[in-house]
Amino acid sequence: MTVNLLDFDAKNLASFCVKIGEKPFRAKQLLRWIHQSGETDFASMSNLAKGLREKLSATAVVESPQVISEHVSADGTRKWLLDVGAGNGIETVFIPEPNRGTLCISSQVGCALECTFCSTGRQGFNRNLRVAEIIGQLWWANKVLGEVTNDEIASKPEYFVGEPRVVQSSGRSQTVSNVVMMGMGEPLANFENVATALDLMLDDNAYGLSRRRVTVSTSGLVPAMDRLRERCPVSLAVSLHAPNDELRDQLVPINKKYPIKQLLAACRRYLENAPRDFITFEYIMLAGVNDSVAQARELVKLVRETPCKFNLIPFNSFSNSGYERSSSAVTYRFRDVLMQAGLMTTVRKTRGDDIAAACGQLAGRVLNKTQRKSHVFIEAVR
Ligand code: SAH
Ligand code: SF4
Repeated sequence: MTVNLLDFDAKNLASFCVKIGEKPFRAKQLLRWIHQSGETDFASMSNLAKGLREKLSATAVVESPQVISEHVSADGTRKWLLDVGAGNGIETVFIPEPNRGTLCISSQVGCALECTFCSTGRQGFNRNLRVAEIIGQLWWANKVLGEVTNDEIASKPEYFVGEPRVVQSSGRSQTVSNVVMMGMGEPLANFENVATALDLMLDDNAYGLSRRRVTVSTSGLVPAMDRLRERCPVSLAVSLHAPNDELRDQLVPINKKYPIKQLLAACRRYLENAPRDFITFEYIMLAGVNDSVAQARELVKLVRETPCKFNLIPFNSFSNSGYERSSSAVTYRFRDVLMQAGLMTTVRKTRGDDIAAACGQLAGRVLNKTQRKSHVFIEAVR
């Protein structure tokens, strides 16, 4: 049976090498070819022996999900719809900024958690993504973004030693410096595959990102937060969205299983191993629902013992959402209450909303949604 080498991190690739009768150190060379050079053709992997190249061609492939469509926002944000088979599609978003490029990656086809303000949640759940489909989003983005235009080469030839990949259209060569697991799905409900993909993101022979530059965002799956702390502690963002259980139960239904007190205790435990000394709390601003001054004060009290920063997210609408975005004045008033209490607070800039690429707008294509009520995901996070 053919295996997809994008499914393997360094450890698994070394076992695979042994299985086909090769030395485990070949994994290092293979990782570099696959992830750093973006090579899919084993015959071109020039520092591997011919025999190994032939063996690989016969038993393995390097295959990322194929792109169905690309949209580019007026602000430069790019969104790709990727085919993951059986009619399903997932979305990946690249957000360029002057000093960094952030890739927002999906972890599941849809999401089973049904947060009421989230378009992905409304789509229902189909299945977990495989490792190749998760890391494949970064693999693909790196490949496309690493291409440069003829115009750029003409204007700065000194930058381009060797043979750059060239694209004809205008555009800029950009790279991914940061990854956020904030696309479709709940990353910690697909724990093993996400953790293996994270290993690859951090591996010096693959993407070499530091733990600070890789962020997992979770709606608060407490047992899985503890597992992540042990397995691969990257930066952690937690979708809080409400100052008390009564409201959070409504907005983020998983709160009924893991209420706020347990969630905050898990956040504090996480910080023992975290690459940063704070948790980022995401807080969506919903007009008239969770955005009052009284609620801001309640929030201040709630997080008193948890080192944290706040990121206020303006609600991004989608059809029939039933919610409205808080006004800018209300959002900044809320921020000021948190700031005056000494909590570092930023308001997230909305990017790519003209192409439905902003937070919570990713819908992809999710077929066979029948698994939404499945308890499988709850089992998976135990
Ligand atoms: N499932 C994970 C990660 C994906 S969602 C989680 O819930 O954290 C990434 C972020 O987008 C979360 O903070 C989520 O609450 C937020 N979000 C969801 N729907 C949104 C919307 N309509 N507008 C703005 N942010 C939204
Ligand atoms: Fe799932 Fe996150 Fe959307 Fe909630 S906000 S439904 S956990 S993707």
